[in-house]
Amino acid sequence: MMMTFNVATAPDALPGKILVIGGGFAGFWAALAARRVAGTRAEVTLVSPEPVLQIRPRLYEARPETLGVDLLPHLRRVAVAFTRGEATGLDPAARAVTLAGGERLFYDRLIVATGSRMRRPPMPGAATAFSVDTQAEAMAFDRRLREIANDVAEPAIAVIGAGFTGIELALELRDRLIAHEADGAAERARIILIDRADVVGPELGPGPRPVIEAALADARVELRLGATVRALAADRVSFADDSVLAADAVVLATGMAAAPFAGVIPGARDTLGRVIVDAALRVPGAPEIFVAGDAAAADTGDGHPALQSCQHAGQLGRVAGENAARDLIGEAPVPYRQLRYVTCLDLGRSGAVVTEGWERRVEKTGSAAKAMKRLINTQIIYPPADGTAEALLAGSRTDIIERVGGLDVEAA
Ligand SMILES: Cc1cc2nc3c(=O)[nH]c(=O)nc-3n(C[C@H](O)[C@H](O)[C@H](O)COP(=O)(O)OP(=O)(O)OC[C@H]3O[C@@H](n4cnc5c(N)ncnc54)[C@H](O)[C@@H]3O)c2cc1C
Repeated sequence: MMMTFNVATAPDALPGKILVIGGGFAGFWAALAARRVAGTRAEVTLVSPEPVLQIRPRLYEARPETLGVDLLPHLRRVAVAFTRGEATGLDPAARAVTLAGGERLFYDRLIVATGSRMRRPPMPGAATAFSVDTQAEAMAFDRRLREIANDVAEPAIAVIGAGFTGIELALELRDRLIAHEADGAAERARIILIDRADVVGPELGPGPRPVIEAALADARVELRLGATVRALAADRVSFADDSVLAADAVVLATGMAAAPFAGVIPGARDTLGRVIVDAALRVPGAPEIFVAGDAAAADTGDGHPALQSCQHAGQLGRVAGENAARDLIGEAPVPYRQLRYVTCLDLGRSGAVVTEGWERRVEKTGSAAKAMKRLINTQIIYPPADGTAEALLAGSRTDIIERVGGLDVEAA
């Protein structure tokens, strides 16, 4: 039986307003954690352009139109209100956020969870390139893939950026073309992975690199490394050495930076535009504002910076939500600590690679790693399947990595 958290029975027990901006992994879990800790002592409202959790970690996959979760039933069950809108301004003195339409929303505690956006490189023609940063962008790219699979005899697809996303996308492309195609062109397709770095996955370090390189070779992904791109067009990539690569689609995977709203928060930012927060995820100098997810520059508790990753975003959200509520009801905050760090990279037909620790020791490869990737991508990062209020509130307590680590995942 579905359980619903009922604050309506105690309307006069709502002394404070907690406002969460952003309906991604950080904002969703922040709202639930705020509700769990504040109980009936706060009104909790989530603001986002759409009430949809975009499953961004899966947007390199086929069928991106299926990769969004309707948040409204979940929020309703725990009495979190939803307001559709884009926050554009902040008045810390008045404790008010302004939405794009001019509406002002007041808060006692604010949680900023506005996430990140892909950094489109500042070069001529960059706007013509595809990306898989949002569900809408991934769907536009998927439509182009379908056209290519059916209309082009020898397709060429250029992926720019050989980091996490670029590698996962490049390794998925041939099978995605096959899924769309009419006449076998996919096997002839050229997939070209381009980076200015001399190695693939520079930020992943040397540990998993041999496994990644082998997967790219097996998938016949051509590498163009140490290559500086000068300009883009819908049908070509122009390099600094004056060479030109003709392409049927150019797709960018050039890294992420904090979304613009982080820029209006008072205080210092890091090089990714993230707001620097203290151990309680509070903005120094603006104690009623907390920041979580890809918008926050936080220390994991052992000197490592939290990454712009789902793994960190969910837990940052849980702690920010808990602390906003604790602060509101007069309890001391808890420190954000996330000492375990695991990477799981999809390698297409070659399975996946799982690493442990910040030095990224390879722990699993092939089908064992793929089973873990599947579990993460189809269950772990989703709201709990049974969707009761109890499960939602309990989920706002559990670190995602504890859920992965607690499961002995075997190859499917
Ligand atoms: C293709 C791809 C693959 C990835 N793969 C992985 C992976 O394998 N593992 C991993 O850990 N991470 C991965 N990531 C990163 C991961 O998706 C992000 O770190 C995560 O989504 C961050 O969560 P978040 O809630 O902070 O931000 P987001 O998911 O960016 O959500 C932010 C939310 O805020 C809303 N918003 C933004 N601005 C405003 C505003 N002004 N007003 C109101 N609402 C606003 C947005 O619409 C969105 O709903 C991947 C990302 C991409 C794009």
